Amino acid sequence: MTSTPHDPTPIGDRDLEVLIVGAGFSGIGAAISLLREGVDDLLIVEDGQAVGGTWHWNTYPGVAVDIPSFSYQFSFAQRTDWSRSYAKGAELARYAEDLVDEHGLRPFLRFGRRVLRAVWHEDDDRYAVELSDGSTLRPRFLVSACGVLTQPRLPDIPGVADFAGTTVHTARWDHAVDLAGQRVAVIGTGASGVQLIPEIAPDVASLTVFQRTPIWCFPKPDVPLPAPVRAGLRLPGARTAVRALSQAFVEVTFPIAAHYHAWFPLTHVMERAGRRWIAEQVDDPEVAARLTPAYGLGCKRPSFHNSYLATYNRPNVHLETTPIAEITPTGVRTSDGTEHEIDVLVLATGFKVMEPDNLPTFELRGVDGVTTAAYFAEHRLRAYEGVSVPGFPNCFMVFGPYGYNGSSYFALIEAQVHHIVRVLRAARRRSATRVEVTREADDRFFAGMLRRRHRQVFWQESCTGSNSYYFDEHGDVPLRPTTTVSSALASRTFPLDDYAFSG
Ligand code: NAP
Repeated sequence: MTSTPHDPTPIGDRDLEVLIVGAGFSGIGAAISLLREGVDDLLIVEDGQAVGGTWHWNTYPGVAVDIPSFSYQFSFAQRTDWSRSYAKGAELARYAEDLVDEHGLRPFLRFGRRVLRAVWHEDDDRYAVELSDGSTLRPRFLVSACGVLTQPRLPDIPGVADFAGTTVHTARWDHAVDLAGQRVAVIGTGASGVQLIPEIAPDVASLTVFQRTPIWCFPKPDVPLPAPVRAGLRLPGARTAVRALSQAFVEVTFPIAAHYHAWFPLTHVMERAGRRWIAEQVDDPEVAARLTPAYGLGCKRPSFHNSYLATYNRPNVHLETTPIAEITPTGVRTSDGTEHEIDVLVLATGFKVMEPDNLPTFELRGVDGVTTAAYFAEHRLRAYEGVSVPGFPNCFMVFGPYGYNGSSYFALIEAQVHHIVRVLRAARRRSATRVEVTREADDRFFAGMLRRRHRQVFWQESCTGSNSYYFDEHGDVPLRPTTTVSSALASRTFPLDDYAFSG
């Protein structure tokens, strides 16, 4: 079954126990756990017309996961029928739909409604949440599950709005655009560009890739999983063993390599392998040199693709590294005065990430009307266990600052949701209508995060030239500097006294 079509009737004004914002995997995971806990006075509001979050919005050619599918799924809903070791986007969107049906979430979903603002009301311990359909919901508890890589970013290049041809952003792909035989420019070589570029290169007349900062790109063990392999996964213990291996691989290649760099300098070994791979894949040494990052691996998120680098060997593909001066009505002009005439401009320029007004993606006002944006600008991006912020009672974030450690989202969603459910269970037990993390607990947690910095990969000198979205405006990297296991343990063991319950 696919998502119920958008019903334009406003939800209407009403009180409810829990409102979840976002029907991506975070919102789905939160809803499943809350229903299990017996919280059924809940709604999930979603801006899009279907569930899946990232996998609903990102449908550009080549979109796929780059964490093995054995890890990129909930522990309680493991599939044995993934078509590949790294699922394509459409398969992940289907997984989201299946979860909704298998866990009875459909009656709780409301599509095509954006949260405009949520304002805390001290008089009745509720948020007033204004929706784009004109309704105001008044939940006791608010779960922000609206993702971090959500709001597409347009590049700050003069003239970007003036291009007279077709402009498309990877995160809002327009499937009516036919690239066959067109002169195409792609701006951006992050994970989206890396997946898109090899996919469209064979079809277009010419492809000019505008690269500002090269990305570390590694081979991806992406293989089809034929029927006998899938059958093997159904043997007793096989699924668990494969998942454990997959989790270990993911854990070593990101959280351990990045956050325990001082103890295990794995990235140096991986950089050598990365340079060898570039040299093997790219025929022209001058092009290979321009595709080789000058910053240390780990400063920004690397990519995995088997044919991205070799795409630059094609005669119709040109790597342009001269900075862009402006976009003109007919193309892209670089700072050396060259005008690159094109028909289609593809912006693979990413998302708002570590900006104070992106966490969450809507205006959120807590005690005394303070917004999260103002709070984070003053106090730095920080959230207790990545979930709660002092001054914002009854509000929980999935993947607030220091919630994500770079591993598979799923294990971390489960940990964060476990945290939320523990707090709500305690609130119910104490008949509390107001729950707020204490400033002391938040300070202690934040100090613990900063104390672990010295062993992270992000503080090497070369990171300053990496243009990495990991760094916020305060120069912090609000990623959780621990393993995924430690995150899961913390969600089970944090003292409930770190919250003040009242009402
Ligand atoms: P991104 O990593 O932020 O990359 C944006 C690209 O656009 C960068 O190469 C950036 O250059 C370039 N850019 C931005 N503004 C520019 C300007 N004014 N002039 C020239 N170049 C400009 O965005 P993304 O590729 O969409 O990926 C974002 C994140 O989404 C990834 O890191 C990943 O977490 C996730 N993602 C995952 C997958 C997957 O495989 N599962 C796929 C896609 C995305 P600079 O580097 O110089 O800033």
